[in-house]
Amino acid sequence: MRKLAAGNWKMNGTAGSVVELQALIAAHPMPGCEMLICPPATLVQQMASVARGSALRIGGQDCHPKPSGAHTGDVSAPMLRDAGASHVIVGHSERRADHGETDALVRAKAEAALAAGLVAVVCIGETEGERDAGRTLAVVGSQLDGSLPAGATAANLVVAYEPVWAIGTGRTPTLAEIAEVHEFLRNRLQALIGAEARGVRLLYGGSVKPSNAAEIFAVPQVDGALVGGASLKAADFGAIVAALSA
Ligand code: PEP
Repeated sequence: MRKLAAGNWKMNGTAGSVVELQALIAAHPMPGCEMLICPPATLVQQMASVARGSALRIGGQDCHPKPSGAHTGDVSAPMLRDAGASHVIVGHSERRADHGETDALVRAKAEAALAAGLVAVVCIGETEGERDAGRTLAVVGSQLDGSLPAGATAANLVVAYEPVWAIGTGRTPTLAEIAEVHEFLRNRLQALIGAEARGVRLLYGGSVKPSNAAEIFAVPQVDGALVGGASLKAADFGAIVAALSA
């Protein structure tokens, strides 16, 4: 399976940020992994047109479960597709926390993504309190069960394991902890979707940076990363792409 380096720009970036994209494309014309950047919705169309013909894919950060309608401020999966996106992140912990998104809503969003021909990047992860209480596997298992879209295959689903307490904090689980969760998720996926589970990319996310990327990518069952802060600069994200391509 080809590994995936995915960047989540969150609420960062304006038209001038296109220079970072151009630098990334120029530095990695033929990367040894898939490269994806998810800019804010305002930049999807512009960035998709800059990335056209290159190895870089562009994705959204969220989508509404409905394709259109009276939902002020929301963006639908067909709109993202129309703007040139190939992927969309759903269920990021910041959306689960800031907007009260439940597993059922995340699943509906993921199903909308699949219906629109997008790859759904479904995010799950435990809080610090849940980890301290020894509930990590129970929490991520039930999030996976509840958020997985019907019709998921290796081609249309990516799962990102992102411990909430590791996002944007500079802290990461130990390599053994990452290995334990990824092994658990692979087995759980197998129980849910059978043989397709082997080809689903399982990303780790949470404070991945150039200095820790290689050791995290060496962990069994880690098929890439979802990267926040370190995806904003082409040099940093490029170093992560290089580590994944090695
Ligand atoms: C994220 O937002 O998905 C993320 C992993 O952020 P960071 O890399 O900044 O921890």
